[in-house]
Parts: sequence; C-alpha cells; structure tokens
Amino acid sequence: MSKIKIAELFYSVQGEGRYMGVPSVFLRTFGCNFKCAGFGMPKGQLSTEADAIAQIADKFKLYEELPLVSTGCDSYASWDPRFKDLSPMLTSDAIADRISEIIPFNEWRDEHLVITGGEPL
Ligand code: SF4
Repeated sequence: MSKIKIAELFYSVQGEGRYMGVPSVFLRTFGCNFKCAGFGMPKGQLSTEADAIAQIADKFKLYEELPLVSTGCDSYASWDPRFKDLSPMLTSDAIADRISEIIPFNEWRDEHLVITGGEPL
C-alpha cells in the first residue's frame, strides 16, 4: 500500500478565500519544490529563522511543538529536510482513520478537505 508523508492533519475553520468560514480538515503534505525565504525580509535578504530552529531541532518531538516564524516560509517544517522526521509516512487508510477521529461526530458532513503543503502535488 502506498504512503504519503504528512506534516499536519487537523480540523478547523477555513480562514481565507472563497470558502472562509467553512469547517474543514486540513491535510498538510510534506515537501515543496521551492525554498521561499524572502517573506518579511528587506529586499535581497533571506530569513535565517528556520536555520536557527534547526540548530535546536532535537528539542522538538512533534511538528506542533516547532516555533512559528515571522520571516521566510511560515510552513518551513513541512518541507525542510531538517524537520522531516517530525512528519510520519501514512497510508490512505491511516489518513482516513485520523480524519474520522478529528471531525465532529466522527462522521463526514459538509466539511471540506483542504490539501495543502508544502507543495501537495
Ligand atoms: S510552502 Fe509555499 S511559501 Fe513555503 S517554500 Fe513552499 S511555495 Fe514557498
């Protein structure tokens, strides 16, 4: 059975775009073909926040424990190989089981499934 590396799987309310306010399950895959580090930085400079966190990466046992960053990619841990061990490989059955556990009433109603990343494709 094939597996996919999953950084995060959680239930929340969509906070942006056309479907703002819709109850949703967010499935964040691991991996990205970019390394955006310029957000929030002066022109021509790159953030080093993720580098600083990687120096103490062994302090963190869960993806959710990692600090937020204010510059660079705010999803850094979902693609940076230095944090890959915090994202398990899951089968589609395991993903479906986890979704059933986190949605209200343990059944799919009108929730959306938002597949994000990283770069999910
Ligand atoms: S997840 Fe988005 S912002 Fe982050 S490196 Fe990939 S493309 Fe850039």
